[in-house]
Amino acid sequence: MVGGPGGGRGGRVSARRAESDCLPRADSPPAPKTSTTIVPRAILNPIGACSEYLKMDDVDVAPIRARFRLCATRLAEHQELRHLPVLSPLCRLCTLEYESVAHVVFSCSELTVARSAARDAARAVALDLDLSLIAGVVSGTDHQTRTAFSISSAFLLAIRKRIRL
Ligand SMILES: [Zn+2]
Repeated sequence: MVGGPGGGRGGRVSARRAESDCLPRADSPPAPKTSTTIVPRAILNPIGACSEYLKMDDVDVAPIRARFRLCATRLAEHQELRHLPVLSPLCRLCTLEYESVAHVVFSCSELTVARSAARDAARAVALDLDLSLIAGVVSGTDHQTRTAFSISSAFLLAIRKRIRL
């Protein structure tokens, strides 16, 4: 009788341990932590940077801007783009024109007051009210960037107040 059942098992485990000691170690030193490791990958762009609007916008504005950027608003243009049913393609505000981003942002008569205020405020810092501003893609001085986000945020909220986005 050479050893019991426990002794035999112990021998095999030891052999496995000896084998695993020859393999490369799986627990290599952890990668150095960078700022990107704490940001969920879903909100990072392909080069690993967080979009500016996610840092600048208030929590009630960021989702609206994101929907514009992703062509995922409830505007008829985006609904059709995503093959979703559209009750009427006409603008829900003026009911005169196709409900596109360009119409709502730049020409709908029902948003004239909010648009004029946004356009005037943008001109005051040498910027144009364009889709870049709406998307939160602004290049300029810090003052221009902050102002651009403030202006476009107010305009986006004014649009959302009138129409479901
Ligand atoms: Zn309209």
